[in-house]
Amino acid sequence: MKTLSILIMMLTAGIFLFGCAPRARQNELEGFIKAHVEKIKPLQKERNLAAWDAATTGKSEDYERASSSTLKIRQVYSNPREFAFLEEVRKSGKISNAILARQSDLLYNRYLENQIEPELLKRIVDLSSEIERTFSTHRGKIEGQEVTSNEIRDVLKTQTDSLKRKRAWLASKQVGAVVAEDVIRLAKLRNQAARNLKFDNFHTLSLATVEQDVKELDRIFDELYELTNEPFARLKADLDRILAAKYDVAVADLMPWHYHDPFFQETPMVYDLDLDTYYEDKDIKDLAARFYAGIDLPVESILDNSDLYEREGKNPHAFCEDMDRQGDVRVLCNIKNNEYWMETALHELGHGVYFKYYNPETPYLLREPAHIFTTEAVAMFFGRLSRHPAWMQQMLDLSDQQRLEIEKVSDKYAQLKQLIFARWAMVMYNFEKQLYANPDQDLNALWWRLVEKYQFVKKPQGRDNPDWAAKIHVPLYPCYYHNYLLGELLASQLHNHIVHKVLKLKSDENVGYVGQRKVGDFLRKKVFEVGAVYHWNEMIERATGEPLTPKYFVTQFVK
Ligand SMILES: [Zn+2]
Repeated sequence: MKTLSILIMMLTAGIFLFGCAPRARQNELEGFIKAHVEKIKPLQKERNLAAWDAATTGKSEDYERASSSTLKIRQVYSNPREFAFLEEVRKSGKISNAILARQSDLLYNRYLENQIEPELLKRIVDLSSEIERTFSTHRGKIEGQEVTSNEIRDVLKTQTDSLKRKRAWLASKQVGAVVAEDVIRLAKLRNQAARNLKFDNFHTLSLATVEQDVKELDRIFDELYELTNEPFARLKADLDRILAAKYDVAVADLMPWHYHDPFFQETPMVYDLDLDTYYEDKDIKDLAARFYAGIDLPVESILDNSDLYEREGKNPHAFCEDMDRQGDVRVLCNIKNNEYWMETALHELGHGVYFKYYNPETPYLLREPAHIFTTEAVAMFFGRLSRHPAWMQQMLDLSDQQRLEIEKVSDKYAQLKQLIFARWAMVMYNFEKQLYANPDQDLNALWWRLVEKYQFVKKPQGRDNPDWAAKIHVPLYPCYYHNYLLGELLASQLHNHIVHKVLKLKSDENVGYVGQRKVGDFLRKKVFEVGAVYHWNEMIERATGEPLTPKYFVTQFVK
C-alpha cells in the first residue's frame, strides 16, 4: 500500500513534471535571452560605432576601442556556464515556440564557436597575427629586386614577354614558402579546438556554426561543376587562343603566369570593355539614390549617415554596417565617378536595404540576414547592374547605338567573369575541406591537382612549392570563401524568380529593374523583413519556391 502510494505519487509527480517542464524550460530560456540581449545590444553598438570611427578617421585610439569592445563581446560568448545551459535546452528539444527555438539555435552556434580553452585560443590568435604580419610586410623579389603586389599585378596585366611574366608570377608565390609551415601548424591547432568540441575537424565545425552542411555544399558544388564543365572549357579555349596570340606562344605552352592575376580568379581584360566613359560626367551617389527610390527601397536615410568620399586617413575600401539593428545603417565608400564605384555603391546599398528594412517587431537576435551569403547575394544582385546594358541605357539616357556597343562585349564579359570565379571558388572550397581533413598530406600536389581539375591551368613541370599558402584567405579567412559563390548562385536565383514570377516576363532580355516597384516590394517582404527567422534555406524556399540551386546561375551565365 505504502509502495503503491509512493509509486502513484511518483507517477503524478512525473506527469506533473512532464507536463510543466517544457513550459518552465521555455520561461527560463526567455529570461536567458532577455538578459543576454540587454547585455549584448549595447556592446554590439559600441563596437560598431568604434569600428566606424576607426575606419573613417584612421586614428589608433579608435582602433583600440574597436578591438577592446570586440574582446568584450567575445568574452560574453565564451562563457561555459551559459553555453552549458543552451546545450541543455537544445538536447531537451522541448521548445515549442518556433521564434524562441530559432533564437536559441543561433545563440548556441555563437557560443559554440567561442568555446575554445583560453590557452589554445591564445596560440591560435598569436599564430594568426604572426602570419598576418608576414603577409603585410613580405615583398616578393624579381631578380633580387623587391616588388609590391601592385607591381606584380601590373606586370601580369600588361607585360607580353613570357619570361618577365613568369618571374612576376613566381614572385607572387614566394610568401607561400615563408608561411606554409605556420599555416599547417595553425590548421592543426584549429583542428585540435574543433575535436575538443567533438567535431571531425575545423572545416566541419566552421560550417556547422553557420548552419552549413558539408554534404549539402558538396552536392551544390558538384552539380555546378558538372554544369559548367563544358561551357567553361569552351570559353577558356577562346580566351587561351587570344592570350597565346598576344604572347606569341603556342596554346599548349600557356602557363599559369599567362593569366592576368596570380590565381586566375579574375577575367583577363582581353575583350575591350571600357564603361568608365559612360559614368565620368555622372553623379554616382545620385544615380544610386534615384535607382533605389524607383524600386521603392529609398536609401536617403542611409546616405545621410554615410561617409562616401575619399579623405586622408580614411579606409580606402568599402563596406556597409548596421550599427544598431534599429535603422542606423551606414555605408563607407570612396566614390569616384566611374563604373567600379557605381558597382560598389549599388552593392553596398544592397547590404544597406537588407539591414534597413528588417521588421522592427522581430526580436533583436533575429534582426540579422538569414546568412552572411544571403546579404552578399542581394548586394551582388544589385551590383551586377552597373554593367547591364538595359540598366545603363535607362539610368544614363544612352542611345540605342551606345547600348549596342555595350552589348557587344558585356554579355561575354559577364559570362567569363562568373565562370572563371566559380571554377576558382571550387578550388578554394575543396582545398580547404581536404586541408583540414588531413593537414599532413602532400598539400602542394593536392593544390595543383585541384587547379588542373577545376581551372584547366597546367602545373609548371616539376613544381613542388606551397603555392596554396600564398592565398591569404587560406590562413586568415578560413572556410569562408565558398560563401562568395553561394552569394552569386542566390543572386541568380532571385533574379530568375523576380523576372518570371514577380514581373511575370518571358525573358530577362530587357530587364534592368529601373522603376520596378514590385522588385523592392518582393525583396522587402520575402527576404529582408523575415531577417533570420528561418534557416537560410527555408527562407530561400519560401521566397523563390525552391531551396538554393545552381541551376539559375547556369541559365543566366552559361550560354
Ligand atoms: Zn558585400
